[in-house]
Amino acid sequence: MGLQGRRIEVLGTVQGVGFRPWIYRIAQTLGVHGQVHNDTCGVTIEAFGSQETLDRFLQLIEATPPPAASIRRMSWTPIPAQDVRAFRITASQASTSRQSSIPPDLGTCMDCVAEIFDPEDRRYRYPFTNCTNCGPRFTIALDVPYDRPATSMARFPMCEACQREYEDPGNRRFHAQPNACPRCGPRLRVLDPSGDTVEALDAVRWAAEVLVKGALVAVKGLGGFHLACDATSREAVAALRLRKRRDAKPFAVMVRTLAQAQRLAELTPAECDLLQSVERPIVLARRAADSGLADEVAPQNPLVGVMLAYTPLHHLLLADAGRPLVMTSANLSDEPIAFRDTDLVRLREMADFFLIHDREIVTRCDDSVVRIIGGAPALLRRSRGYVPRSVGLARGVARPVLACGAQLKNAFCLASGDLAVLGPHVGDLDDPEVLVSYGEAIERMERFLGVRPEVIAHDLHPDYVSTAYALARPERTRVAVQHHHAHVASAMAEHGLTGPVVGVAFDGTGYGPDGSAWGGEVLVATFKDFERLATLRPIRLAGGDRAIRQVWRTALALVDDAFEGKAPLDDIPLFQGITQQRLEVVRRMVSGDFNAPRAHGAGRYFDALGALGLGLQEARYEGEVALAWNLVADPGETKAYGYHLDRTTEPWCLDLRAMVREAVADVIAGVPAARISAAFHNTLVQATAAMVRAVLAIRGPLPVVLTGGCFQNPRLAEGVCAALGPDVDVRLQRLVPAGDGGIALGQALVADAVSRATTEEPGG
Ligand code: ZN
Ligand code: ZN
Ligand code: FE
Repeated sequence: MGLQGRRIEVLGTVQGVGFRPWIYRIAQTLGVHGQVHNDTCGVTIEAFGSQETLDRFLQLIEATPPPAASIRRMSWTPIPAQDVRAFRITASQASTSRQSSIPPDLGTCMDCVAEIFDPEDRRYRYPFTNCTNCGPRFTIALDVPYDRPATSMARFPMCEACQREYEDPGNRRFHAQPNACPRCGPRLRVLDPSGDTVEALDAVRWAAEVLVKGALVAVKGLGGFHLACDATSREAVAALRLRKRRDAKPFAVMVRTLAQAQRLAELTPAECDLLQSVERPIVLARRAADSGLADEVAPQNPLVGVMLAYTPLHHLLLADAGRPLVMTSANLSDEPIAFRDTDLVRLREMADFFLIHDREIVTRCDDSVVRIIGGAPALLRRSRGYVPRSVGLARGVARPVLACGAQLKNAFCLASGDLAVLGPHVGDLDDPEVLVSYGEAIERMERFLGVRPEVIAHDLHPDYVSTAYALARPERTRVAVQHHHAHVASAMAEHGLTGPVVGVAFDGTGYGPDGSAWGGEVLVATFKDFERLATLRPIRLAGGDRAIRQVWRTALALVDDAFEGKAPLDDIPLFQGITQQRLEVVRRMVSGDFNAPRAHGAGRYFDALGALGLGLQEARYEGEVALAWNLVADPGETKAYGYHLDRTTEPWCLDLRAMVREAVADVIAGVPAARISAAFHNTLVQATAAMVRAVLAIRGPLPVVLTGGCFQNPRLAEGVCAALGPDVDVRLQRLVPAGDGGIALGQALVADAVSRATTEEPGG
């Protein structure tokens, strides 16, 4: 009576996340018959039952998906009713349009953790335990659809017991593609630096013992190798710094439980949620006073990057070591994370031992980094756990686009239809090694998504490696996108805005169409184009990029500009450590306009003021001084310095010379750096809000987006939001990084809009 049939199509992250078993279970409970299968578009269900039952079925699918699944779209069409007597999961079907997303890697679930610590369980201490709710996905996938034969688990035939679980609809491992156990799955071993296997009854326990004694161990994890050491040992962490050739950049620390994380950092509820999320990112949080961590973990830094164990291997290793471990990407300072067993050669100088396994990591994927800004998470690095989840586009692209990203912190983006997928963090493209893996990662993602790009987007900068890559691609439609326009477009895309918007893009540097370095920009933008309404007064960079490391050069140029060459250099502690001769050289470069390009980057102001206020001559890694300057700011200080928004020029110019003069006077008077930094932040906040308000006054109430690496600074981001007040619709980047790691999304949308316009014009 009243038997109906429906074909239900579900798009989104629905493969490899226990979606079909869960559909099966709801169908069983409701008495729905039919079948469910993965296809290259997502999941398709054929369901037969009464109208009432089928309505309920659809409701339940939408309301209670498995934790790691995310439904982007669900639709159904009526089909002729069939009198089938059961509900089945059928084999995957390959179809021509391939939009499905392979799910991201998922942190180990509580059930699996319980099993590996249960001596009675057959997976007791098994480091590759997983189920439909957790485990490796993206990093082991070779192709779509996401099924075991298309993963690096293909070479491990399941034993009888595992096969039974895999086939039992009532089991947590029903169709868990990486299902494995000690009898049939991957295995661990320990190698010494010469590559010989170390005899050990239990490789994890053995590794934990040497870690406790101070050794550095390279651990093959989910998306690559980590270098691990005892985070409470000064000697061990110092040795790690030396061998990794990393002076100061903070290392991330891993612990097993939330309670342990709370001992290391003062965690807000939002930070606790984030730590425990299936994505398991590194969370930047305030370090606890008595954290017990060696200072060398994050020297002179009030923050600490904490993450929870996200594989069974981590859980076992941390439990055996009984203390927090530094877990940092295994690489030399600027190289990409090592992920292949052949990379071990490169790691020999760094690690005392290697804890490795025989499951291949197909795609490199670094740990993601998140910080709470304005009360909600903002991704600083979007990689493991988030990639390859797609970003839905309010306005889809006309033709598939590959956007090649920027130079530093590179991540590329593929957009097709109304979806965009950002690739994993590739890192800094200066390194030739990185370029190889960059190209490979792009090709693999094209295959996964079944996208053949027709439009190639790249940065306007002629010397970026990503630009060279774009120009070497065979596709003929290429669009060069201005860096800050791309930042703004990325924020627009993330928030479903199609423009126009007021975009504030503050970062270190980006190539301007006039050949100068931009980076303190207020744009009014659509995807197709932008107007530059205001910018920061430029600073001269004596020696070009050298001034970015040697921040005293920028400070000198800034101070000279503010005091019109009559700066009281002798009274400023920063310059007392620099010889007269070096000061003169820089001054001559600036005044003679010789190798001293103009830079508008807000980041340069952070560098220069940080150098002056903290007496730091040099940044040991990119952004170090700017970050230190942010971290030192006194949260209670409300004072601000002067500024002038010059509206007689085009674009308007934000002139901060008054601020520089007052800050220098404070430095000379011995005012604490915490207060000078706070006043600097307050000034920049007020000046930025004033620029935005001035633009809104002439352009009407447009939405405002804040983007660029500087807005990963909570004080600046939160300050500008607060200063603009509740009447202004202001958005921060959250799921897509505000820094250059998120820029490819914006490039893709700009390239789409620009290439549409040229193809739509007659004869264009
Ligand atoms: Zn699990
Ligand atoms: Zn097995
Ligand atoms: Fe940038």
